Amino acid sequence: SFKVAIIGRPNVGKSTLFNRLAGRKLALVDDTPGVTRDRRSHAAKLYDLHFEVIDTAGFEDAAPSTLQGRMRAQTEIAIQEADLIFFMVDAKAGLLPDDTTFAGIVRKSGKPVVLIANKAEARGAQGGMLEAWELGLGEPVPFSAEHGVGLPDLRDAVVEALGADRVFGEEDEDDGEIAASDVLIGEDIADPDAEEVPAYDENKPMRIAVVGRPNAGKSTMINALIGEERLLTGPEAGITRDSISVDWQWRGRPMKLFDTAGMRRKSRVQEKLERMSVQDGLHAVRFAEIVIIVLDATIPFEKQDLQIADLIIREGRAPVIAFNKWDLIDHPQAVLAELREKTERLLPQVRGIQAVPVSAETGRGLDKLMEAVVRTHRVWNSRVSTGKLNRWLETILAHHPPPAVAGRRLKIKYLTQAKTRPPGFVVSCSRPDAVPQSYVRYLTNSLREAFDMPGVPIRMALRTSD
Ligand code: GDP
Repeated sequence: SFKVAIIGRPNVGKSTLFNRLAGRKLALVDDTPGVTRDRRSHAAKLYDLHFEVIDTAGFEDAAPSTLQGRMRAQTEIAIQEADLIFFMVDAKAGLLPDDTTFAGIVRKSGKPVVLIANKAEARGAQGGMLEAWELGLGEPVPFSAEHGVGLPDLRDAVVEALGADRVFGEEDEDDGEIAASDVLIGEDIADPDAEEVPAYDENKPMRIAVVGRPNAGKSTMINALIGEERLLTGPEAGITRDSISVDWQWRGRPMKLFDTAGMRRKSRVQEKLERMSVQDGLHAVRFAEIVIIVLDATIPFEKQDLQIADLIIREGRAPVIAFNKWDLIDHPQAVLAELREKTERLLPQVRGIQAVPVSAETGRGLDKLMEAVVRTHRVWNSRVSTGKLNRWLETILAHHPPPAVAGRRLKIKYLTQAKTRPPGFVVSCSRPDAVPQSYVRYLTNSLREAFDMPGVPIRMALRTSD
């Protein structure tokens, strides 16, 4: 079993969630004012997951003079005890300085985190959702503790954060394997610069994951890229688990390649590996900035390929496609045109995605692939100034204004870029709820073209202007 601490500033909805998980109908109400409760843990249930939840509710009842210090101390203790943190923010209220403070404590702990954006059902919560990304704690799970919305996603996020073995208590014989969650999540989150400094930094290793179906050629490609036989390919693949990530350089630029199923020693239970392969890819994706999706060009775009692509995009990572085994293709020009057309059609969320034919075996095309990776990384990090955005918005609104809804004009006031990695924008408008999806898509696509941001996910949130 594992322990979960619910952390967040006062009033974000921690107690409501606690009570839901602990299966209690009423909030734990203490009638005596100013009495602080001890932390205690309760058995909690979330569908098929059973764990303990540490009660940190009630800290805010502390005497005002001691509130800050006490909460902080209690929070730190709770975090220390926990195996997993539920970090809760209020999407309706948006980020407050206290959120950032608490998030800092959580990040420093290096513990796995699930970021919960509560009150996501509220009007105007989208802006808060988008802001939540800036905490650098990963993708926020949209949630409503009050209405119980988002519980299935929360369950999945727990499994993802801790790994299925840990969650379901499958006792892994200690075979010296390094669990991805042990090392990398900590490394990722403990690095305060990881997400907070959005500036593009050429000297920081670019984090790349190589994913794809078994036999697509991932291991062959990684070998070719790092130029050493550090990894073994073929049916007897037997790599030691040391290299959960590999550091290397491309044209003098530091790169870090993350673990995928292809880099792993084939598991003692082959069947389990097959079952886990998408899950494995998912792990690597979380650590990566850029994800190379390796497709076998002779059998491209199987269902699993699209699942992986979809996951990468939802995680906000930047995908680059490698059409591998190009040496086996007979009419390369025609096939490439066809495959690129298909790519655009199947992945409209990342219009302009880089898709490069390669042969991992001969090494052909790998330089082009890496150029595409670097280019995409740059776009993923890009920032457009508010001035430029709004000059652009003016011309857009002049030529293609939003439709009137029920006789009332929708007013779009301004546009700002709230985040990078991937680019995220906030549209301030008179009635966010009334803006049709098709218009949001139109804005997104035009923005992508105007500011040359091909191939990366772009997030767009609507917010009421005051
Ligand atoms: P992984 O499971 O994705 O890591 O795939 P591997 O790297 O183990 O490759 C699977 C098989 O495809 C191996 O037999 C490789 O030799 C072969 N392969 C990989 N890349 C290429 C390529 O570019 N061209 C050809 N013809 N075969 C390749």
